[in-house]
This record gives sequence, C-alpha cells and structure tokens, in this order.
Amino acid sequence: HLDRIEAVDGTVGAFLHVAGEQALAAAGQVDADLAGGAEPASPLAGVPLGLKDILTTTGMPTTCASKILEGWVSPYESTVVGRLRAAGIPILGKTNMDEFAMGSSTENSAFGPTRNPWGTDRIPGGSGGGSAAALAAFEAPLTIGTDTGGSIRQPAALTATVGVKPTYGTVSRFGLVAAASSLDQAGPCARTVLDAALLHQVIAGHDPRDSTSIDTAVPAVVDAARAGAQGDLTGVKVGVVRELHSDSYQPGVLSSFDAAVAQLKALGAEVIEVSCPAFEHALAAYYLVMPSEVSSNLARFDAMRYGLRVSDDGAHSAEQVMAASRSAGFGPEVKRRIMIGTYALSAGYYDEYYGQALKVRALIGRDYARAFESVDVLVSPTSPVTPWKLGEKVDDPLAMYLSDLCTLPTNLAGNCAISVPSGISADDGLPVGLQIMAPALADDRLYRVGAAYE
Ligand code: GLN
Repeated sequence: HLDRIEAVDGTVGAFLHVAGEQALAAAGQVDADLAGGAEPASPLAGVPLGLKDILTTTGMPTTCASKILEGWVSPYESTVVGRLRAAGIPILGKTNMDEFAMGSSTENSAFGPTRNPWGTDRIPGGSGGGSAAALAAFEAPLTIGTDTGGSIRQPAALTATVGVKPTYGTVSRFGLVAAASSLDQAGPCARTVLDAALLHQVIAGHDPRDSTSIDTAVPAVVDAARAGAQGDLTGVKVGVVRELHSDSYQPGVLSSFDAAVAQLKALGAEVIEVSCPAFEHALAAYYLVMPSEVSSNLARFDAMRYGLRVSDDGAHSAEQVMAASRSAGFGPEVKRRIMIGTYALSAGYYDEYYGQALKVRALIGRDYARAFESVDVLVSPTSPVTPWKLGEKVDDPLAMYLSDLCTLPTNLAGNCAISVPSGISADDGLPVGLQIMAPALADDRLYRVGAAYE
C-alpha cells in the first residue's frame, strides 16, 4: 500500500501525511507476535488503514486540513486510534478532508483537493473525500471517516465504496476534533460490507472518556454481514422514503435506486413506501444546528494555547492576536459557518432560528420512530447526484449543501446508516450509492441488508 500511495497519490491527493516507517514498524510487530506464537489481536491485525485527519494521533500531525492546525501534533490519542492500535492495525497516515469536516467535495481543504479515482477531474465527495478516494484508488484497504451530516456516506457513494455512520454514542468521540458534537460520529470505510463490519467491531464500544458514549454491547455486525452475504432477505421489511425520492435528483441516480429496490425484492424483502414529512426540512435544520455547534466548538482555536499564532506589528492585545490568527487560519467555509452559527445563537434570533431547528430535529426523530414501527430498514439514494467536476460548486455553497439532502436526517436523529455501491449511473457512467438506514443500536441490520445487496 505504501508503494501504491507513492505511485498514485500525487494525482489522487488522498493523504495529507504518510507515516510509512511507523506503519511498517506496526506491521513488523504483528509479524513478530504471530511468529512468536501469539494469537492475532483481531481479525484485522496487520491490515493497514488510512485515518481521517480529524482524529488525534501522537507521533504524526493532526491538522483537520486547516492552516490553523498546520503541523500540530496532539499530545494524546483518540480512543478510536487506541482501539486500532490494540487491534494490530497499522496506520498508513492521515487522509484529506474538507477543513474541519465542513463541505461535500474535499475542495475546502487548506492543502489542496482530493480527486476522484473514477475521473480525476471529479470531486470524491466530502468531507471525507480522502478516506473514500484512498479506498477507491487501492491506496488503503480500510479507512476511518467521520460523519456529521454525511461525510462518510456521501463520499462512499461517489467513489463506489462502503461507508457506515454508526449509531450516535457507539463510537467514542474522545480525541475526535469536534465540529458539531451532537452530530459527529466516526465510522468504518472499506471496499466491502464485511470489511466495514470487521472494522466497526474494532472501533465501537463504550468509553468512559466520552460523556455521550452509550454503555451497551456493540450489535453483532460481523455476524450480520456474514448472514446477509447468504443473499436471503425473506422476512425483512424495507421502507422506501417518499421524501427522499424526487424528480430533482439525477435520472441515472433514480433509475439505479429503483433497480436496487427491485433487487431487494428479488432477495425476498418486502418493500413498502413510507412517508417522513419532516425530512423535507432536514437541510434547513441541519445548516442551523451544525453551524451553531461549530461556532461554539471552534472558539477553542484562539491562538493562545496551540495552533497558528499571527502577531504582526498591528496585533498587540490578545483579542487582536486572536482576530488576526483566526482570519489567517480559517478558510472561507469555516468562517461562513462560524458567522451563521453565531447569528443563529444570538439573543433575539435564538428562538427563531436555533430553537426552531431543534423542533424540526425532534420531528425528524419522530418520523423515524413511526417508520420503524412498520419496517426494519429504510432506503434512499445516498446522494441525489453523481460526482461533479472540481470547481463546479465552489462558489455556490447552497448547491453544495443540497448534495447532503439524503444523509442529514440520520445525523439529526442519531440513528445509523450505510452507503453501499449501487452500480454506475446511466447518465455519466459514474458511481451511485444506495443508503440503508436503521434504528439506533440496530446497526447490525445495515450490515445484513447491505451484504445481501452488494
Ligand atoms: N457536507 C456536510 C457539511 O458540510 C456534512 C459534513 C460532515 O458530515 N462532516 O456539513
């Protein structure tokens, strides 16, 4: 994989940092342990992985693809990374992303975009475009992403790979640099559903260092993936979400989705249409809740304790240094969200915007609850569009936000979803993804249905 990175990453741009020596040392340790007669630490011992550059690591930088954290090396490691290391998984390096996970194309990285291996003039999705492209370009067999509004699933769809947003609270956020704390969740990315399940098993589990971590057993995702691979969905009820099937989606995406539904039926599933009316407002609610939390979380980048500090002749007071550093260190999308969030949370607007968004969020949760009374999983396209050309939407944030339509409800409700490859679009020959959503703590259903479909 290091050779492959060397050969193709100059074009793909999936990695921000490659930790070749450390990865080889970790792999060598696995070999030595096995030669010494030890049991493998996990089924994935020795299988290398790319890590989204928003999870803290000691011994290599964590930048969140931002100039404000350029070169910063964390003094402590995220729980996810600790679990990877304990499982004997060598870390190849850190993957590219939109700055602080804000974006849908990986063009908001301060260190240059990632390109889609399916067409290098195309974006790979975002914010975790590096993690998805590394899989599609065979630079890594496994990667970790984070999903606040779709950043694992949408890039998976756009690169024909598999990505899972686990139930909120089941994968520790300790050491995951926070964008929107009530939405963020790390998850597995891979080229097959079973690989994703094996990785899911490694990273999920209770962590007393994360106050939102749920103290419950991880669903049996590996068993579910193996059972699903038998290809029998008899007795499984699948709901097609009416509000996530619109004429505004690309025709090739819709026809791929309709074919996927037909295939689920052919596998024995019972398919019914369900309505989730509040989903129509998910985009508006998300783009208030998310920036509001961002505006608070990113206040920590104050140039006082760590990160970029700009103190030229004009900046004397602490406030002036903060302003100069944040102006120079944050990119345009990050600034836009801090401003939207600060506005939405300010006295006089709080009830009208933030409070209203929270009400919509609760309604979305209720729509899911009602739907899951009659079906086991819900399905939709993962993204309404296939990968677009680099530069096409950079000046139009709203057009960019619209590509998240189908993935946002899951984060707002805190439940789980997977994106699995669903062929290529008849419009342009580019990848399409099928999204499967399940109730909180029923992540195993994603793997059962995903493995049957893939
Ligand atoms: N594209 C969405 C956004 O820009 C989702 C990001 C994410 O999941 N981190 O906010």
